[in-house]
Amino acid sequence: MSFKAINPANGTVLRVVDSWTEKQLDAALEQAAAAAPDWRRRPLEERCRLLARAGEVLRARREELARTVTGEMGKLIREARGEVDKCAWVCDYYADNAPAFLADEPIETDASRSLVAWQPLGTVLAVMPWNFPLWQVMRFAAPALAVGNTGLLKHASNVPHCAQLLEEVFLEAGAPPGVFTSLMIPSSMVARVVGDRRVHAVTLTGSEPAGKAVAAAAGQHLKKSVLELGGADAFVILEDADLDLAVEQAVASRFLNAGQSCIAAKRFIPVAAIADEFVERFRAQVEALQCGDPMDEATRLAPMARFDLRDDLHQQVIDTLAKGGVAVTGCLPQPGDGAYYQASILDRVEPGMRAYSEELFGPVATVIRAGDEADAVRIANDSGFGLGGSVWTGDAARGEWVARQLECGSAFVNGLVKSDPRLPFGGVKRSGYGRELSLLGIREFVNAKTVWVR
Ligand code: NAP
Repeated sequence: MSFKAINPANGTVLRVVDSWTEKQLDAALEQAAAAAPDWRRRPLEERCRLLARAGEVLRARREELARTVTGEMGKLIREARGEVDKCAWVCDYYADNAPAFLADEPIETDASRSLVAWQPLGTVLAVMPWNFPLWQVMRFAAPALAVGNTGLLKHASNVPHCAQLLEEVFLEAGAPPGVFTSLMIPSSMVARVVGDRRVHAVTLTGSEPAGKAVAAAAGQHLKKSVLELGGADAFVILEDADLDLAVEQAVASRFLNAGQSCIAAKRFIPVAAIADEFVERFRAQVEALQCGDPMDEATRLAPMARFDLRDDLHQQVIDTLAKGGVAVTGCLPQPGDGAYYQASILDRVEPGMRAYSEELFGPVATVIRAGDEADAVRIANDSGFGLGGSVWTGDAARGEWVARQLECGSAFVNGLVKSDPRLPFGGVKRSGYGRELSLLGIREFVNAKTVWVR
């Protein structure tokens, strides 16, 4: 068994990395377990210094990291550079804020002194996806390591060199061996790692089937889990919206990363009064997104990360069109060697069509037309997913009222949904449970220990 990194822009094999044997995996688990007691005992300030240095290493190796990301999963090089910068930011953020987040919390009781102390759980396994192959990992690792946990990474099979480089970043920053380790294992070995006595918790970012498998393994062994799963974010456009802004941000949200973002706007829900105008303006801007070499700064639309993912997306489109959906633009794979899919809009999507209820993880926008505001909210919430959502209106108070009604983990008004180290990130319904980032993220993999002194 091996991991093959294939450049999705042209289909060439970049590298092949051998999968580990059981013996190699066991040695890595042993090393993480051996590193854990020392790591948790080190002063918090020392762990924060490691994160600050990791931020410096990321900045120093920015170009190499960005080019590896673009090579292995295809995103535009300028988006890859932005991803490296964001990773450095989350390292800095927890280096600066972990001391306040992890300070003892005194609570008045009948004791002379009682408090909550935030202590590490031990070793946490992170099962991660390829779409933001650095960011998804660092937003887990920075708070987890700051608390004093050790981290194990099982990365997606198509980004093996990204996985290796992430381990290198921490080692170069001065992390003792075993504090952060990339496991070169297939997903079939994940349940065994979750069940291992040297592993104490697990977090997964990825699809629903993977989430169910990992949550089941965690449940079987009574271990804490966090799940960040798929999304089908609503983008509600009300009749008083600034359409120039809404259309520009609709394009940015849906087509960033070739549409492969969990918090991309996926279901565009214009109210009847502006629906035709919105779709027409949206079409004009989407048609300007031409596929090209992702290493070229000028390219606007990247390939998808894998050929099989493009095939799956196209089948969802074909099935939706067969049920009466309307292809406004695109809706076809781009001919050629790369895994490109044309920037696409599916209009007149209705219940019973795959694009209505499923996540489309690629550059295809779904338009579901609503009557009025109440109808738009009803449609937005008529989804199994609950990750993010946005509402576009000229009235901020009205926007906040609508945002509060959306069944999701993050609701934005007149802004595209994005992750930010300062804000909690996570979903409800089938988008998972638990939170990453901010104060809440650093408190997921901790023992909130009550200490009571007479
Ligand atoms: P995926 O196929 O679920 O893969 C994610 C990770 O899970 C990979 O490391 C994969 O390993 C592993 N995996 C797959 N099946 C598994 C199983 N049965 N047991 C244990 N591990 C398993 O997801 P993807 O296609 O890479 O990512 C796309 C999905 O992730 C989308 O639904 C997207 O919305 C979601 N996502 C969510 C967030 C969020 O924050 N909520 C962020 C990004 C992406 P292999 O590669 O070896 O199969």
